[in-house]
Amino acid sequence: MIITKLDIETIRQDFPILKRKVNGYPLVYLDNAATSQTPKQVIDVIVDYYTRYNANIHRGVHTLSQEATDAYENARIKVQKHINAAEPYEIIYTSGTTDSINLVANGFTSFLKNGDEILVSAMEHHSNIVPWQMLCERTGAILKVIPMNHEGELLIEEYAKLLSSSTKLVVCNHVSNALGTINPIEKIISLAHEVEAAVLIDGAQAAPHIKIDVQKLNADFYTISAHKICGPTGVGVLYGKEEWLSKLPPYQGGGEMIAEVTFEKTTYADLPHKFEAGTPNVCGGIAFGAALDYMNSLGYEAIARYEKELLEYATKELTSINGLKIYGTSVHKTSVISFNIEGIHPYDIGAILDKLGIAVRTGHHCAQPVMDYFKVPGTVRASFSFYNTKSEVDILVEGVKKAKQMLS
Ligand SMILES: *Cc1c(COP(=O)(O)O)cnc(C)c1O
Repeated sequence: MIITKLDIETIRQDFPILKRKVNGYPLVYLDNAATSQTPKQVIDVIVDYYTRYNANIHRGVHTLSQEATDAYENARIKVQKHINAAEPYEIIYTSGTTDSINLVANGFTSFLKNGDEILVSAMEHHSNIVPWQMLCERTGAILKVIPMNHEGELLIEEYAKLLSSSTKLVVCNHVSNALGTINPIEKIISLAHEVEAAVLIDGAQAAPHIKIDVQKLNADFYTISAHKICGPTGVGVLYGKEEWLSKLPPYQGGGEMIAEVTFEKTTYADLPHKFEAGTPNVCGGIAFGAALDYMNSLGYEAIARYEKELLEYATKELTSINGLKIYGTSVHKTSVISFNIEGIHPYDIGAILDKLGIAVRTGHHCAQPVMDYFKVPGTVRASFSFYNTKSEVDILVEGVKKAKQMLS
């Protein structure tokens, strides 16, 4: 297959924010794992929506409502095709990954009993830990942890030993936001299915880097946040297999999710509307579709190849700094580098980098158990996107060296 090479300078023109200055320096945006920037192709879609056809959907007979409904439902189909779901109604719009996970955790309340087990990986984001803990509190189910090693890789043999007929759910991220590890989820899913456990994959961090095929993976649930994949905040999806989504009870009650309401009894709408109470983020959904179009216009092979180049270059350059330690050293990684410099607090490094216009994340990255495992209060995390450049890596490395000099 011929993989076209990305023209990064042209791509950067698509992102107006990359032209701005911070503290007098050109912005070097390396916090893509927290949220990605938005190309003008997506911004234009948002402006067009509010300029031409802002309306509530699924309700009005009028033209604007029909146009908005069509665009919103068309975006659902874009998501479906993008992740190769079998049916459009297996795509539930949510406000993002956190909301998607809570929807499933809430729905499982009536399926679990005392002593049932939920397996969760050691490298989860809090949003894929806390809802399951709350579910355990409601049901008496037990949370067990799939351990990892010092490279930041899950121990699959240990995982296999944890699985039993008591395992009802396995939840795991596809890619770790704190370490960048790409987990072997195909294997994780097939092992879980051997004991008939359902699997939820948190794909928030995978979707920007990896082309997802939920049917090939055979995931029961898969979650995505639009804002990490060039879309707007406040929208995302839950993919669920039809057999699971039809079994799960509704999440929130309200308008849109009903078939018929009387004071005696309410019947629920069919999928996907059963899970979509209230006026949704119409514009956000449409813009999410545009973001997927944008990603696909670049192509995931080309994105992955370029980001790998950036990752390897940045890893090599940062490692040359004395006392710098990287957390998450699996060979299966996306372009995320979590690091610390011996004797210096990550927050102080982040603050100095910001003075130089460099945006990185510092802290526990909503993954405190990962920090506890490595016995650090937090890390500095530089996360690269396809619009970042090698010269930005150089600026980061110079900045880190300067911070080290100032702080030690
Ligand atoms: C960002 C992120 C989340 C949370 O996503 P929201 O968009 O904040 O709901 C969950 N898991 C991972 C791995 C993430 O990177």
